Amino acid sequence: MVRETKVTASDLIAPLFVQQGLAANTPIALMPGQFRYSPETVVEEASALWKLGVPAVLLFGIPLRKDPLGAGAYDLAGPVPTAIRNLKSTLPEMCVIADVCACEYTDHGHCGILEGEFVHNDQTLELLRQAAVCYARAGADIVAPSDMMDGRVAAIREALDAAGLSATPIMSYAAKFAGAFYGPFRDAAGSAPGFGDRRAYQMDIGNRREALREIELDIEEGADIVIVKPALFCLDIIREARDRFDVPICAYNVSSEYSMIKAAGQLGWVDEERLVDDTLLSIKRAGADLIVTYHAREWIGAGSGIEPRRRGGAENNT
Ligand SMILES: [Zn+2]
Repeated sequence: MVRETKVTASDLIAPLFVQQGLAANTPIALMPGQFRYSPETVVEEASALWKLGVPAVLLFGIPLRKDPLGAGAYDLAGPVPTAIRNLKSTLPEMCVIADVCACEYTDHGHCGILEGEFVHNDQTLELLRQAAVCYARAGADIVAPSDMMDGRVAAIREALDAAGLSATPIMSYAAKFAGAFYGPFRDAAGSAPGFGDRRAYQMDIGNRREALREIELDIEEGADIVIVKPALFCLDIIREARDRFDVPICAYNVSSEYSMIKAAGQLGWVDEERLVDDTLLSIKRAGADLIVTYHAREWIGAGSGIEPRRRGGAENNT
């Protein structure tokens, strides 16, 4: 009764990987309990989440082919637009968020178009504009640029408005740090850079003031929701963003944070269920309104044979 912070199903966003041409759901080795889905089978997983009270999914695409220019990122027949259409026709009320980035679609695995060994910021903006419009046209409720190029929120906002999609909000990865946090994700999405790293466009984990400046810039450019990523390593940034800005703050409980708990749980070294409770509660207490988390289905509900939990999200949407 006196607990100040509570986490409910409606706070959560479930990330889902959608792979084109997949015959059967494929387990992701480095993220036990997570799968790659086809643009068709992803609907079953989203339906289960919706029944448990999770209001939103965040889609990442794995295309059949990759190329240096990441053209698959704005292919209307690609994995994400196809999944969006399938999801919206079956679950029209569910909030479908589309990740906007090039790294899942480029053969070099960087988040943009290269010039030599460096990502060309402004050429990449054009790709991001096309991708965002493509997903919004397919029916995405929100677009979520994760690339960290300068000026992308303004560029995407302008492109959406010009395409008659002014009602589509932007959830921007405003403060995204470079580091070892995303290893399991890159395995899942096949998006590890072929050379170098992302430190030219993502932030240094030691920089707190820079994170706040990036968030401020994104809000000025038109971001409707801002993401801080990774969540557990950045609880101080989440709190400071919450105190300073008035837009919804979303925290991304990233793949390494998920896989560490799963691994320790499998070894019997921690009480996995309680550790997930404490993780999500701490992120919320730090100031996050929304949490993107791979734990969503297992934590709330009956997924993977685990009994429904006490969270009371199930009545929300059914
Ligand atoms: Zn990327």
